[in-house]
Amino acid sequence: MRCLILSDIHANVAAFDAVLADVDTGTIDQVWCLGDVVGYGPSPDECIARLQELPDHCCVAGNHDWAATDRIDIAEFNPVAQIACRWTSQQLTSENRAYLENLPTTLVKGDCTLVHGSPREPIWEYIIYPSTAQPNFQFFDTQLCFVGHTHAPAIFQEQTSSHRFEIRIPSPNESIAIGDERLIVNPGSVGQPRDGDPWAAYMVFEVEKKILEYHRIPYDVGLTQRLMMQKELPESLISRLSFGW
Ligand code: ZN
Repeated sequence: MRCLILSDIHANVAAFDAVLADVDTGTIDQVWCLGDVVGYGPSPDECIARLQELPDHCCVAGNHDWAATDRIDIAEFNPVAQIACRWTSQQLTSENRAYLENLPTTLVKGDCTLVHGSPREPIWEYIIYPSTAQPNFQFFDTQLCFVGHTHAPAIFQEQTSSHRFEIRIPSPNESIAIGDERLIVNPGSVGQPRDGDPWAAYMVFEVEKKILEYHRIPYDVGLTQRLMMQKELPESLISRLSFGW
């Protein structure tokens, strides 16, 4: 079984379409989305529609998905995120609002747990450093846990008597064979990368073979930026897409 793993699409339909074209959805059996389908970007309803068209898809709730439906308070968002969140909230159709509102915080698919932030705190916690990842291994029972939220691809391996804990940043187009080790894996962000590379990020997991493929692909950043300008979204959110931060 081949699973497409997406996170942090953030209403960037040009980036999402580029990923779907690159992966060839005909080869994909399931789609696992790690939340933040909306927020920041110019096309929230279109991105939800694209996701819902995909075969055997599932999605967990991200902080932006719930903030756009008023399920969580946006007081902790920075000022530009608040502006974008209010704009997103005004755009959503009632069906899409209900879809986001009802997303679960955690899903288990075979030997994989899916959350947006962390298994310990699925909506808000960022796993950036090994020191945050390590205690989180106690909060899921599967071998792997897929997370998003930081917008930066990373693989954290659980510390054992023979393995010192570490973080590994995968290389684009790398295939990673997984053994028996427990991992927390972040595929990076489709629609607003923050690791210094503006290209859209995604992963494909070959479940039976236990092979994780990591991909980066270019997309029409200018198209997304023009749409954001038309919708009068904050300038800093528009310019950051050029730089991937
Ligand atoms: Zn996000």
